Amino acid sequence: MDHFTYKNDILHAEDVALTTIAQAVGTPVYVYSHATLTRHYRVFRDAFKALNPLICFAVKANSNQAVLATLAREGAGADVVSKGELMRALRAGIPAEKIVFSGVGKTADEMEYALKAGIKQFNVESEPELEVLSAVATRMEQTAPVSIRVNPDVDAKTHAKISTGKAENKFGISWTRVDEIYAKIAALPGLVATGVDVHIGSQLTDLAPFREAFIRVVDLVKHLRANGHDIRHIDLGGGLGIPYVAEEKAPPLPAEYGQMVIDVLGDLDCELIFEPGRLIAGNAGVLLTEVIYRKEGEGKTFYIVDAAMNDLARPAMYDAHHDFFPVKRDTDAEMDVADFVGPICESGDTFAKGRKTPRLQGGDLMIMKSCGAYGAVMSSTYNTRPLVAEVMVKGDQYAVIRPRQSLEELISLDCLPHWEIVS
Ligand SMILES: *Cc1c(COP(=O)(O)O)cnc(C)c1O
Repeated sequence: MDHFTYKNDILHAEDVALTTIAQAVGTPVYVYSHATLTRHYRVFRDAFKALNPLICFAVKANSNQAVLATLAREGAGADVVSKGELMRALRAGIPAEKIVFSGVGKTADEMEYALKAGIKQFNVESEPELEVLSAVATRMEQTAPVSIRVNPDVDAKTHAKISTGKAENKFGISWTRVDEIYAKIAALPGLVATGVDVHIGSQLTDLAPFREAFIRVVDLVKHLRANGHDIRHIDLGGGLGIPYVAEEKAPPLPAEYGQMVIDVLGDLDCELIFEPGRLIAGNAGVLLTEVIYRKEGEGKTFYIVDAAMNDLARPAMYDAHHDFFPVKRDTDAEMDVADFVGPICESGDTFAKGRKTPRLQGGDLMIMKSCGAYGAVMSSTYNTRPLVAEVMVKGDQYAVIRPRQSLEELISLDCLPHWEIVS
């Protein structure tokens, strides 16, 4: 459920008309609903209420300070994958003891920063990383809490670019080598093994791969404990999918996922950690865009909109589907079947093909739904298009939470080499 609904045939974010935002801030612009964001967080939290887990929002899904501050106020922790994301999470008020650090390529500098901050745990993905972390922690006279990200070798049955739990993926350490690795942690100075971590992919629409992976994790934890390791946390990652297409069967609800987790892990006496990203933010945001032209091609109609693949990369990158809706609803409108494309000079700059839509014209506003996760965070300035603006709505108020970059700011990031500067 979200808070983007028509009122008097005008699409609103909560109580604010999207026409108002377009007029004040311009387009393209991401618009987030504060109520949807907090609702999703609470629904997920309540799915496991009995287990009182730590919910670490995956910052890579949406790292805007306003989004993180909203979730911090709800009690969320953070899952970060870089020093920059860690800085963002801390600055937004998420306490270090609720932050976990994931990612396959943490550098010594990033580890040092995280140790200084006092984060909850490092999710370690390789032996060389373990050795560097041991060296950094020893030098700082600290002990780094470590969970090994195990690769359970299950097929998440999702898009290849967001599948991470198969043996051939770059993520984690094979579950068959876990004994050796935990023995190594015990032997290295400056490290303490406190948990086990798993994350098998993103946009999963079936509980079976999760269940398969979690059963494997339970066996591992029992085995590690029998070997004397004090395993206190299990980090189950993120990955639960969200509905992107209104007419399709929706993925499992958080409550169903929660029940499965309780069935599989309920009596293990371990603190559970989750790292949901998309589930919290995905349907809490839309991308508001204006039609520039309606172009009739050879037997084909195109809507050229002012948002492009630099603002929203998901369709080009993952063949992702986003539903389109006009901001002004006209139930009597003639229908069109059209491709929705951006202005960038790439065929990949296509948001939708052969989509049915009420007929629109240049100047009309539309939204793409489900853009709150992996949207603005992936934006770029390709084609010298300024970084996209972001707005948050709360009730009848709205606030710009990232102003649109000016062209002056964008271009002045470049500098000429000294030999080009004539004095
Ligand atoms: C991307 C990622 C997540 C979040 O995935 P969602 O599908 O957005 O829930 C969680 N943990 C790790 C390690 C990730 O890489």
